[in-house]
Amino acid sequence: MSGTKRGSRNLLEDVLKAGLCTGCGACVTGCPYMAIHEGRIVVLDRCTIEDGDCWRHCPRTPTDVSGFSEKTQGVPFDFLEPGAIIAVEMVRSVDAAVREKGQDGGVVTALLAFALDEGMIDSVVCSKKDAGGAPHGFVARTARELLECAGSSYEAAFTLEAFRKIPAGNADRLAVVGVGCQMEALAKMKAAAPVNGGNPQNVQLTVGLFCGWALRSDIFRPLLEEICDTSRIVKFDIPHSPGTSFDVYTKDAGKISIPLDDIRPAINPACQYCWDMTAEFADISAGSAGSSFHGWNTVITRTPRGAGLMKRAVAAGIIEIQPLPESRMTKLKASALNRKKNALRNLARKSGTREDLGYISGLPAGLVDALLKD
Ligand SMILES: Cc1cc2nc3c(=O)[nH]c(=O)nc-3n(C[C@H](O)[C@H](O)[C@H](O)COP(=O)(O)OP(=O)(O)OC[C@H]3O[C@@H](n4cnc5c(N)ncnc54)[C@H](O)[C@@H]3O)c2cc1C
Ligand code: SF4
Ligand code: SF4
Repeated sequence: MSGTKRGSRNLLEDVLKAGLCTGCGACVTGCPYMAIHEGRIVVLDRCTIEDGDCWRHCPRTPTDVSGFSEKTQGVPFDFLEPGAIIAVEMVRSVDAAVREKGQDGGVVTALLAFALDEGMIDSVVCSKKDAGGAPHGFVARTARELLECAGSSYEAAFTLEAFRKIPAGNADRLAVVGVGCQMEALAKMKAAAPVNGGNPQNVQLTVGLFCGWALRSDIFRPLLEEICDTSRIVKFDIPHSPGTSFDVYTKDAGKISIPLDDIRPAINPACQYCWDMTAEFADISAGSAGSSFHGWNTVITRTPRGAGLMKRAVAAGIIEIQPLPESRMTKLKASALNRKKNALRNLARKSGTREDLGYISGLPAGLVDALLKD
């Protein structure tokens, strides 16, 4: 896989058929030939364009990670570190109702509602669960709408479809929330704006979510339908300890624990090639990995823009912060680095050589050798 001028035929061969599609949603909407069908991207007809946005913005077409780091974070890319870091802290929303509805500490919802309230942004591109708990891209314009979107769905959400649907002439200042591959697609759009819809210049804030993997709806949904009435689902959770179950909370049956091993066949195979556990191209990234307590987020503040928002949110009494113990930080860094090594190893295995790491380009050969030596 090489070159930057390609179209949907190449996307079909090099990304979709190659099992690399992450379900970010960047390639749909602007094009009449691409669509989401049963949780997968389908190409509806032959397109003859040789230089298409679908290829240009896909996070799984050749990506110069070093170049993007300079552009989005203002710092050189360091493959050994979990992205640009101003601070790593344990954080939670002060509002108990937001914590209750939120996945972990409700920080993502709290910060975005605050950014709306103080006028930093006008709307938020995020993901909303439908009646059966499946996620779809959504544009939230109020704190109430954001609260309706709180909580994680572990299926690929195609969130960026909602971004691409916003007409290019729309002047709303936006925040975008998403997992690492969605932040990478957005970074690509910042480098070369889409022709039809979704203006990256309007994006004032990006909030990334740590991500271990996402599930394929076509495999996960039937599994879920066997064990519960999906319209009664309240929340999904993957507790870190003991780390062996996928929990589904329903209105009628309370918690239903599924062994994590039963869920694994539904994991998108594309996720094994993903290097980005902590959404490195965002202004602020949030997860729960690393946090000492249940109900708190681990938050990485990455850019001055993100740091400004965090500072104002603390001053306004929206979020509370605790230091992250050094031992947790060490573990978080090790997990993020392991993810990168695994992605390189799997990409090298896929191509048959370390010289070809598929979509990842721009890494010094010496570094690759050092990372893959054990
Ligand atoms: C697919 C996936 C895998 C994840 N894996 C891990 C992991 O391995 N380790 C870890 O520490 N954290 C993981 N997270 C992040 C974690 O689940 C929380 O999102 C994060 O800790 C923020 O918590 P919060 O309480 O602040 O979020 P909330 O305040 O509840 O806000 C959550 C936000 O996530 C958005 N969202 C929900 N589902 C999706 C989706 N499928 N795709 C994109 N956006 C979505 C919503 O729009 C909402 O704005 C994962 C998240 C997702 C979506
Ligand atoms: S990874 Fe995103 S842009 Fe690439 S094919 Fe899949 S949905 Fe489209
Ligand atoms: S593991 Fe990576 S590729 Fe898969 S959904 Fe998460 S960020 Fe995207």
